[in-house]
Amino acid sequence: MKKYDIVILGSGLGGLECGYMLSKKGYNVCILEKNSQLGGCLQTFKRSGITFDTGFHYVGGLKQGQFLYKLFDYFDLLGLPWLQMDEEAFAEIIIDGKSYFFASGFERFVATLAKEFPSQQRQLENYAGFLKQVGCNIEKSFSSNSNNAIDLLEQSAYGFMQKTIDDPLLRDVLSGGSLTMELCRDKLPLYIFAQINSSFIQSAWRLKGGGSLIADKLGENIRQMGGTIITKAKATKLLEKDGRISSVQFNDDEHIEGKYIISNLHPALTLLLMDDSKFAKKMFWRRIPNLQNTYGMFTAHLQLEKGRIPYLNRNICLYKNQDPWDCGYAPNKKGLSALISFQPPQDGSSYTENIDILTPMYWEEVTDWASTAVEKRGDEYKVMKRQKAETCIELAAEYIPNLKGHIEKIYTSTPLTYRDYTGTINGSAYGIRKDHNSMLQTMLTPQTPISNLFFTGQNLSLHGILGVSMTSFFTCAKIVGMENLAKDLHL
Ligand SMILES: Cc1cc2nc3c(=O)[nH]c(=O)nc-3n(C[C@H](O)[C@H](O)[C@H](O)COP(=O)(O)OP(=O)(O)OC[C@H]3O[C@@H](n4cnc5c(N)ncnc54)[C@H](O)[C@@H]3O)c2cc1C
Repeated sequence: MKKYDIVILGSGLGGLECGYMLSKKGYNVCILEKNSQLGGCLQTFKRSGITFDTGFHYVGGLKQGQFLYKLFDYFDLLGLPWLQMDEEAFAEIIIDGKSYFFASGFERFVATLAKEFPSQQRQLENYAGFLKQVGCNIEKSFSSNSNNAIDLLEQSAYGFMQKTIDDPLLRDVLSGGSLTMELCRDKLPLYIFAQINSSFIQSAWRLKGGGSLIADKLGENIRQMGGTIITKAKATKLLEKDGRISSVQFNDDEHIEGKYIISNLHPALTLLLMDDSKFAKKMFWRRIPNLQNTYGMFTAHLQLEKGRIPYLNRNICLYKNQDPWDCGYAPNKKGLSALISFQPPQDGSSYTENIDILTPMYWEEVTDWASTAVEKRGDEYKVMKRQKAETCIELAAEYIPNLKGHIEKIYTSTPLTYRDYTGTINGSAYGIRKDHNSMLQTMLTPQTPISNLFFTGQNLSLHGILGVSMTSFFTCAKIVGMENLAKDLHL
């Protein structure tokens, strides 16, 4: 049986970053990935030569001196073709037909919105000042005795907005850029809301060519450092001996050994791999299958006629008959919220070839097809997807002139697609739903009751590219020590 220092289950961003970090520290790493493509939510697909992103669409805080810049410098990802989004307006929030703009940089952010809400200038300044502070303090999470984030994790994001901003419309506008998280009114911790919004306001970036460039670059570097990545290798069992994971079975009949095992899978899936473990009966494990997960996403990927729709270097966040804070509960049949993202032109022109429209989609909307597999879900499923795509396009067409006349093809994905490709529970987009009322129950740490098994990825503390990148440091710190890693990051 082949032996490694580290075996990592899953090659999502979390798995790859742990693989990179530990290879850099001289460990002999092996990553098992069930798909043929690396990256999990960073995967792309190509149709007619055009690249479509399945998950990731933009990141925040990537300007020199900002925090993701430091992390991506460490991960050797700064050389990718990043494109800064419009600093005057990286997001356009449209609420019931009226547009409001988010500008980059905290002062410009305040100045832009204060034009629309002059009487709220002071409150806007306080809000932006708070987000800036949270963003600046992020580095303190890496100090071993910091409790910096805990206080904010136990506070309600919704409660904070109610307290801080008087004008209900301004509250909705400020919350409206948050379709990359689930605005669950009674659960979302303030820290998550503040950290993600803070990073995007610092600076917002798209990647020309799609998220798989991130995964491929990390994979290439891991291999160059001597690491092994096996694709089409589905972890099927974790075997336990004397309180440790003694070996990992994959594809039902192959086995490898690792001194340490890192699981980038959803913790409930990790647990399923150990169904006969005596540890699985312990309290810690028993609560995991009962944790709630965030909603999934429906995406309409539009392939457009060449040279017809001008590229827009900002996101559009649309709300029609939809309170941004109603997300996270149940489908709203009358309303809609959608994130519209333009793919940067790859041919040097000023026109985009594809636009993605993402809207929250709940597991209850697809349970009729839960037992089906990709491409075999039947005609009713296709009709449902077609209708949902048409609703999204109708709404987007109100703001993108001539859109409907220039669509060549529509590809769609639902939470079932994510369940089947990334293995996430119920096709959840952002993993375990964190709850400020029960922070200790819903925020898992990398450590498990099994001494050589660790978790990593979006199901732990923070989701998204920034959150997962931070989490990968916390996971590896369990093996090599946080001070050691913080030094490498020059913190
Ligand atoms: C629609 C959507 C849009 C998003 N947009 C953004 C955005 O614009 N900006 C942003 O910052 N974040 C965004 N996110 C969130 C971000 O993409 C994720 O938080 C992050 O990529 C998750 O990484 P991960 O490593 O935790 O997990 P995943 O990407 O889920 O990776 C898990 C990996 O494990 C593999 N796996 C599963 N089971 C097995 C098994 N048994 N054996 C082997 N391998 C297995 C999967 O195939 C997958 O590769 C988006 C997410 C979604 C779904």
